[in-house]
Amino acid sequence: MVQATRASWQPIPRQLERVQQVADTIAAGNDWLIVTHERPDGDAIGSALAVASLLSVLGKTWRVLVEDPLPVRFSFLPWYDAVSRVQTVPDRQFTQVIAVDCADVHRYAYANGYIEKNPVLVNIDHHQTNPGYGTVSVVDPQAAATCELVYHVVRALEVTLDEDIAMCLYTGILTDTGGFALPNTTREVHQIAAELLAGGVRPYDVAEPALESRTWEQIRLLQLALSHLTLSTDGRYATMFVTREMLDSTGCTDDDAEGLVGFARSIDTVEVGILFRETLDQRIKVSLRSKRTVDVAKISQIFAGGGHTRAAGCTVSGSLREVMERVTKQVELALPEA
Ligand code: AMP
Ligand code: MN
Ligand code: MN
Repeated sequence: MVQATRASWQPIPRQLERVQQVADTIAAGNDWLIVTHERPDGDAIGSALAVASLLSVLGKTWRVLVEDPLPVRFSFLPWYDAVSRVQTVPDRQFTQVIAVDCADVHRYAYANGYIEKNPVLVNIDHHQTNPGYGTVSVVDPQAAATCELVYHVVRALEVTLDEDIAMCLYTGILTDTGGFALPNTTREVHQIAAELLAGGVRPYDVAEPALESRTWEQIRLLQLALSHLTLSTDGRYATMFVTREMLDSTGCTDDDAEGLVGFARSIDTVEVGILFRETLDQRIKVSLRSKRTVDVAKISQIFAGGGHTRAAGCTVSGSLREVMERVTKQVELALPEA
């Protein structure tokens, strides 16, 4: 077993033993399939590519398999071009799988055809709705990002935090904390970030593409979406929606609607911001964000989704109108008596 050493100020993982088990399991395997959730965000991509970089350093072979194309804004990340999209007919099957940022096994169901029966399955995640699936798992809802947990795995394996690994981990932590601003931003987050900077990360090189930069098409979609933003009568929740027509007329793809929900939440009186968007398979993808009191993961679970206390989502069948009615009803019930 690899025993990690730490300086006194270096953060210690809350689940030290589990992190060690995950590290030992990764050290024991030689050929890994890395999977994450559909429409991967900065933490999903960052943690998948950090694990890929880690495996490369350890001299192991790997494949990162995703369902949807990676957003171009993450193209500065190492191994971005090495990521594979899922194919209708899998070319091979893996016996060793690492799932990152996946709240449950359905989140990476797209990869099932690539996975042999009873694989060695490593589950690294920070969603409170994660049941702890897998042969070994480290699931810590107090972690701001899955990348925070991958950081601990890297440390447990005593692998040097090189620039590649550090850039990937920083990207996940930066995006999942909304630029070190959301309530999940902790002392440990900043301690880890400091080490990632020591590893070679230049913060603006990540923040500019990952958080700040928008395409002209995205701005046009924002204009349109804001023109339909509505506030509840009591001012405590706000809703936005994005139809296929809105995406088509602005030249946007689904991924371009990412982040819009923050505008609904940002209104000073609002506790819950909600974004509804029509998916290609005629369902409605719902994003929920709250500030201080409402547990939006609980609301998402009513609709078979999941997530975190302050950021969660679900995908619901029905028309835009129906789904908006059903979800806002649950939000109203969840808002404490005024
Ligand atoms: P989103 O609104 O899609 O940005 O998601 C917010 C958070 O909830 C992210 O951490 C997602 O991983 C999680 N989430 C979204 N949809 C689901 C789902 N259907 N099941 C479990 N977790 C979800
Ligand atoms: Mn994610
Ligand atoms: Mn995450």
